[in-house]
Amino acid sequence: MKKVAIIGAGISGLFIANLFKNNSNYEIKIFEKNNLINLDEGYGIQLSVNSVRLLNKIDFHKFQNDKKFNPDKIIFYSNKSQEKFCDLYISDFNSHDCKYTTLKRSDLVSFLKDKIQDLIKTNHSISKVDQQNEKIHLTFENNETFECDYLIISDGVFSKSKNLISNNNTKPRYNNTLAIRGMIPNSSNIIDKKNISLFFGSDFHHVIYPLNPDGDLNFIAIMKYKLSDEELKNYSLFNDNAFIKKVLKNIPQESKKFFDEIKQLKIFPVFVTDHFFEIKKNNIYSIGDAFFAFPPSFAQGASQSIEGAHELFKKIDSNTENSFFEERVKKIKMVNKRSKINQFIFHLSNPLTIFLRNIFLKKLVKNKKFLENYLGKIYR
Ligand SMILES: Cc1cc2nc3c(=O)[nH]c(=O)nc-3n(C[C@H](O)[C@H](O)[C@H](O)COP(=O)(O)OP(=O)(O)OC[C@H]3O[C@@H](n4cnc5c(N)ncnc54)[C@H](O)[C@@H]3O)c2cc1C
Repeated sequence: MKKVAIIGAGISGLFIANLFKNNSNYEIKIFEKNNLINLDEGYGIQLSVNSVRLLNKIDFHKFQNDKKFNPDKIIFYSNKSQEKFCDLYISDFNSHDCKYTTLKRSDLVSFLKDKIQDLIKTNHSISKVDQQNEKIHLTFENNETFECDYLIISDGVFSKSKNLISNNNTKPRYNNTLAIRGMIPNSSNIIDKKNISLFFGSDFHHVIYPLNPDGDLNFIAIMKYKLSDEELKNYSLFNDNAFIKKVLKNIPQESKKFFDEIKQLKIFPVFVTDHFFEIKKNNIYSIGDAFFAFPPSFAQGASQSIEGAHELFKKIDSNTENSFFEERVKKIKMVNKRSKINQFIFHLSNPLTIFLRNIFLKKLVKNKKFLENYLGKIYR
């Protein structure tokens, strides 16, 4: 029996653990630095059909229907007037039991954690990785050690494991954007509760989408914002009321109409990866944000984490020589390019370019060939 160690109990680590769990050839352990897996956070996540198809392999289609939602379309709203100007039917990519899904991140994590709870060791932050012969030796900050045949690194965008292996050569970069997140309770009547609403703004966009059939909504905005090195080092800044007020002042006036309704508002900086790092050690792999993190404007981070985890599981389980790294890089490059394009076009501020963008978008959302190329290549 082969021993598999997974570092980090986020979406990618928990999903790959679920895949290995049903295979008696492997014994798995997940090491998580925190003392519990936080399920309080109610913020949302969007899952496109590529990841829902893979989640269904571990029975996501049986997961409580009152905790997930299947929006039909994305409704685009223009900058100044904030009026609806076109729709994109994401449900065109759905199949019978595989539909574009929105839900609370905590509900997804709870679903992923449920069947593997006993395999998770909390309070285990990795501090050393050694490889001798075929075995990999792990040491944790609490001085415990563990020996394994495979090491799967899934400890997120700031991956300490990747830093240990690369001698600190893999730092993520601040994307010059802040994410502003919150929830809009179902009592609100401000917006369509059955679809995803995407509002363009100048150097700013926001998205509101349903989290469940009850009509609870998720709010997420991305704002261009420069931060100094000092500010970036000071994480308490993002809980500081004066700083939050200063950031909120930058929201374009026309986009402010929902702000009174938002609960649990939080601001945090968005970090992305610039370069791919191939781990040139036997049987050590990274997945999820530890592999590569892109701007959130294509809502693909979790879906790609799930796809990558599934590809790695297949590679290890079938013991093939196929290059997990190269295949992943190909797909991630496509997603990263689209995420950057999206952010660029969502944030236009020049009236002429906005006018042209809106004309093109109205045509493109109806152009099947374009949609197949831009979305289908990622979603299928
Ligand atoms: C604003 C924003 C909105 C987003 N919206 C979407 C969306 O709608 N749809 C979508 O698909 N994606 C979205 N994403 C991206 C998505 O959230 C991430 O890509 C995804 O959560 C990555 O999962 P992960 O498991 O790789 O990492 P994480 O979820 O970061 O999990 C890493 C885990 O490792 C643990 N860990 C860290 N260090 C150590 C250590 N030293 N030792 C042990 N454990 C450790 C952490 O505590 C954590 O539990 C969004 C991202 C942002 C920033």
